[in-house]
This record gives sequence, C-alpha cells and structure tokens, in this order.
Amino acid sequence: VTPALALDERLAVALRQAGGRRVAILALQDLTAVKRAEEMRADFVANASHELRTPLATLIGFIETLQGPARDDAEARTRFLGIMREQAERMARLIRDLLSLSQIEMNEHTPPQGQVDIREAIGFVVNMLQIQASAKGMQIEVDAGPGLPPVVGNSDELIQVFQNLLDNAIKYGRRDTTVVVSIKAPPGAATPGRGSALAVAVTDRGEGIAREHLPRLTERFYRVDSARSRALGGTGLGLAIVKHIVNRHRGSLTIDSVEGEGSTFTVLLPVAEAGQLTAI
Ligand code: ADP
Repeated sequence: VTPALALDERLAVALRQAGGRRVAILALQDLTAVKRAEEMRADFVANASHELRTPLATLIGFIETLQGPARDDAEARTRFLGIMREQAERMARLIRDLLSLSQIEMNEHTPPQGQVDIREAIGFVVNMLQIQASAKGMQIEVDAGPGLPPVVGNSDELIQVFQNLLDNAIKYGRRDTTVVVSIKAPPGAATPGRGSALAVAVTDRGEGIAREHLPRLTERFYRVDSARSRALGGTGLGLAIVKHIVNRHRGSLTIDSVEGEGSTFTVLLPVAEAGQLTAI
C-alpha cells in the first residue's frame, strides 16, 4: 500500500465512523523528500552554471585582450591561446561528464542485459591510462585470479567506471607509487538483491581522504579540495558517474581510506547466472 493510498483509506474510515455528522479532516503530509529533491535539482543547475561560467569568463577576457591591447603582441598571443585552449578543454570535459550523467540517470531503472569480462575491460582501461601513469612514474598492477566469471553489465559503462576510478588513483596518488587493481570472486560476497558478486578494488598510495568527506564523495561537484581538483583537470563529477552506473548494475561501491596512506575504492558487481552463462 502506498502512503497516499493509506491516507485515503484512513480518511474513508474516518468519514464512515462520523456517520453523517459534520467533521473536519486534517491531513498532514510529509513533503521533506520532495522538497529535498527540488533543492538538489536547483543546486545542481546553480553548480553546473558556475562551473561553466568561470572558464567562459576567462575565455571572453582573453579574446577581448587579443582584440585590443595585445593585438600585435605575438608572444602574448601564443601564451594566451595556450590558456584559452586549457579553459575550452575544461568546458568540454564538463559538458561530456554532464551528458554522461544525464544519460545514465535516464537508464538507471532498466538494468543492463549483457555480459562483461571484467578482466578484459580493466585491461583496456589500463592500456588507455598507461601514459598518464608513466608521466608520474607510476605503475598499474592488475591482480586477478584465473577463471573469473563474467558479470552482468554494459561494457562501455563499466569501462567508464574503472576509467574514472583509475584516473583518480593516478591523479591523487603519489609519484613513483603503484596502483593495484584486484579482481576477486570472494566467497559469500553478494550484491543487494542478487546472487554472488565479483569484487574489483582499486588501491592507490596517496594522500587519502579524511573520514568526514567519505559519505559525500559521490555527490555531484563535491570535492575535498576544489582548486586542486580543477588544477588536475577534474570536473567533480567522476564519482557521481561511478555511483550511478554501479546503481544501474545493481552493484555497490565502498570507499576505504587512511589519511596520508591511500584509498581503496571497491565495486561489487553481480556475476552472470549459470543459465545466462550457457548463452555466451
Ligand atoms: P574530480 O574530478 O574532482 O576528481 P571525482 O568525483 O572523481 O571528481 O572525485 C571527487 C573528489 O573525491 C575529488 O575532488 C577528490 O577530492 C576526492 N577523491 C577521489 N578519488 C580520490 C583518491 N583516489 N584519493 C584521494 N581523493 C580522491
């Protein structure tokens, strides 16, 4: 019975019991959740606009300077164009992440149907991020046992999950350290409402995250240090995207971190059932 129905039923009973007498009915409804959702939507639009407005203002400023005082200054032009390019790229990243987020949100209630070989997906991401890791003298080590079962999922979306987690591990990890990706089928591990699960853990050696930030990390635009995240090319949306994709996959995400040592992001994903397995 939905709460609204329950309320209607209670009103009907009250009217019947009143037996034709004049009655006053006082109905109180808790709208906290609806109000909260409205506020979150408004906050999100304000945040997204603010994130776009800053690089846009920089771009306009430099364009005006190049059209005016620096018109004939070749050296300034080269320098300014470099900054303008960075700012335009920042806007492009933001739009890309906003679009991903809205697309995932639209599909969130229909679980994916395919099967994904997680080892292969991780291998793809590791190859993609190898140059970025080497630039900081970092290694990426994949620790996966043999014979891992496939998971139920959409391969593009799962690639995006591990790309975001590994990208963060490289961004926030210390130079010359190793990022470890472990893939296991721990006995007894289960995802909410599903059978057995595969656990993928991404561990970095970095600054770690203070305890009070952990519950809010997957909120859109939530950053521990905004200036630092922006300087590293972050949009503040990476973990929000991860959370929504993991939700769509009926999986779970846990974050463990020790300040000054590093962090582990663990994703549990439902293993494809035996019946589905024969369909490969
Ligand atoms: P961003 O684009 O800022 O990296 P994310 O949504 O991916 O956005 O992450 C949100 C915030 O969580 C980051 O700004 C950073 O403060 C923190 N964070 C994420 N991953 C890590 C990590 N591996 N180590 C330390 N801090 C992290």
